Amino acid sequence: MSILQLDELVSKLVSGNMPALSKAITLVESHLPKHQEQAVQLIKQCLPYAGKSIRIGITGVPGVGKSTFIEAFGNLATQQGKKVAVLAVDPSSSINRGSILGDKTRMETLVQNANVYIRPSASGDHLGGVAKKTRESIVLCEAAGFEVILIETVGVGQSETAVHSMVDFFLLLQLAGAGDELQGIKRGIMEMCDAIIINKADGENVKWAQIAKQNYENALHLYTEKNNNWQPKVLTCSAIENTGITDIWNMIQDYVSITKSNLSFDDKRNNQEEYWLYETLNQALKDQFYQNEYVQKELKIQLDRMRQKKTTPYEVASLLFSKMLDSQK
Ligand code: GDP
Repeated sequence: MSILQLDELVSKLVSGNMPALSKAITLVESHLPKHQEQAVQLIKQCLPYAGKSIRIGITGVPGVGKSTFIEAFGNLATQQGKKVAVLAVDPSSSINRGSILGDKTRMETLVQNANVYIRPSASGDHLGGVAKKTRESIVLCEAAGFEVILIETVGVGQSETAVHSMVDFFLLLQLAGAGDELQGIKRGIMEMCDAIIINKADGENVKWAQIAKQNYENALHLYTEKNNNWQPKVLTCSAIENTGITDIWNMIQDYVSITKSNLSFDDKRNNQEEYWLYETLNQALKDQFYQNEYVQKELKIQLDRMRQKKTTPYEVASLLFSKMLDSQK
């Protein structure tokens, strides 16, 4: 792509052209070095137009109703006059096709909504890579005029931390069961979320959902209020019957106005930029270390010596580190 073509892509994208947005995301997802160089320019040119959305992360175990919820919530947001983009973070999708998120076939009415853009998860089994692509896709969607960005992730492993670190508001979807609702929920995720939504609060389940709501509220009160004056909330909804969705929308609007007025909204975004800077640096340092041929050679030798009890992990670490530094002189 020439500079001229890149300029043309940017001007189409910022005018809200969806095929241009898709093309741009494909460029940032490409592994080709030439494309990666162009993607850097593309992002730079889009940055001045970006940042004006509300970024919402959505997590929960498979089957909790994430797709159904996104469909209901996305449609509501468009009724409020917003353009909605749906992205997904699922580093396992290339391995386990069953867990693909942002699956268009599961969001039938949303796909047909002219004000909605849905992009399935970037492929790749390396979370850092997928997270980078998703963050760049957020910038592109914002530059294309999308005002609500929904980022879906499956409730496993590190991908939740990654999504939490790229959104303004983090929603955890849960189910009410008969009895021990709190079972199985990881404390770390409770601490991360800005709201817990108990889905499938319909039919017989309504009363269980109310009990679960109470239990979660009690559990959340054990955590201190976040430093942005926001006490995480618990709400119930039925994504399939489309009830309780407006309350969730209003809660997020409240959150935005509270955190914008006390300036923590921008603080959080700035901290997130810092987080990703350090994440990227840490990864780059690690890669450089382990890919260094002297380190690789010496590591094998020292591992043998370690097994023979001739050295310690600390001595080896320090030796390998100086080997790497020496090799760069
Ligand atoms: P995901 O794996 O978290 O994306 O979950 P899905 O959105 O695919 O939903 C899993 C199943 O739960 C589907 O059969 C949905 O129809 C059903 N479901 C989703 N939301 C609700 C709800 O609010 N009430 C009920 N009763 N079923 C729901």
